[in-house]
Amino acid sequence: DGSVVAAVRRALEHADAVRRLEVRANADTPQDAARARRFGAQGIGLCRTEHMFLGERRELVEDMILARTDAERDRALAALLPLQRKDFAGLLEVMDGLPVTIRLLDPPLHEFLPDRIALAVRVAVAEATGRPPDAHDVELLGAVNRMHEENPMLGLRGVRLGLVVPGLVAMQVRAIAEAVVERTRAGASPRAEIMVPLVGAVEELRLAREEVERVLAEVGAETGVPVRCPVGTMIELPRAALTAGRIAKEAEFFSFGTNDLTQTTWGFSRDDVEAAFFPAYLDKGVFPTSPFETLDPEGVGRLVRIAVEEGRAARPDLQTGVCGEHGGDPESIHFFHTAGLDYVSCSPFRVPVARLEAGRAALVGTETSDAR
Ligand code: PEP
Ligand code: MG
Repeated sequence: DGSVVAAVRRALEHADAVRRLEVRANADTPQDAARARRFGAQGIGLCRTEHMFLGERRELVEDMILARTDAERDRALAALLPLQRKDFAGLLEVMDGLPVTIRLLDPPLHEFLPDRIALAVRVAVAEATGRPPDAHDVELLGAVNRMHEENPMLGLRGVRLGLVVPGLVAMQVRAIAEAVVERTRAGASPRAEIMVPLVGAVEELRLAREEVERVLAEVGAETGVPVRCPVGTMIELPRAALTAGRIAKEAEFFSFGTNDLTQTTWGFSRDDVEAAFFPAYLDKGVFPTSPFETLDPEGVGRLVRIAVEEGRAARPDLQTGVCGEHGGDPESIHFFHTAGLDYVSCSPFRVPVARLEAGRAALVGTETSDAR
């Protein structure tokens, strides 16, 4: 119905005119980025680079992490570099001058390493039937066993991986920088931002940032095109929120990863609890909706407020946003408005709703949303 479409368009225009929160989208492919733009996203707030490795390239990530020698790891990294350069150039091209926040690799390792149980079964079956097991399987099983974690979401993820796998951060940053150079030479004004995931201590960010800046300068010198990318961090661990003042000295922006921040503040597993006991908790009224859907203002929200306040005190021009699922949840958007964030970033499909809610939040002011 044309009149409904026109009414929605008018409502969105009105919301855009009054809202203070910027609305970005989470996108990892040019297709998603294009969709995000059609829905009115003002940038990409989170590009999850691990999603770029799910298909055939998975094996390269596996090789990189399980490499037996430096040469083997370097080969995997060298194979990944041109693929990543193309990924980033594609996103920057679609976003055409809008900010694109690229997060350094944050793979839950259990989703990337070969299936340990399947390997163990293959080896055991071979042994039981008197055949020598495949030598590659045995070697791989040994490597996977050494990497195995009982709680991978609390394990070797995010910046930790970047700091223990030599060359990983450099490869991704080089790919970003070269993509920026490529777009700049094509006459565009690319705006890439580099985001470091799962930081808990300022020292982690400082180490990652040194590497980022070294590689940006290197590519700038090689190409004669200066590459300027703001470097920021995810705030998704309580310790990061509580030490935000120190972290802000090393970060040009904060992006709240409220999925992990909810997990680590409550001690709820992101992967396990929704079916195990949340239905009973919802039933008993422990909380009105899942804290993974609607931001918990007293716990997680308090950490967000502390981090914004202390971060801005240390660096007045600090940019702050949220890129967890809550960035697209209407009630949570009201919270982020009152907490004074600069932007929310959500799935492309939720961008119109986020624009409307950000507008509503600006209109209703602070009282109602604080009453929650
Ligand atoms: C988060 O933790 O909220 C986040 C955006 O990162 P991811 O969901 O990829 O862990
Ligand atoms: Mg996270």
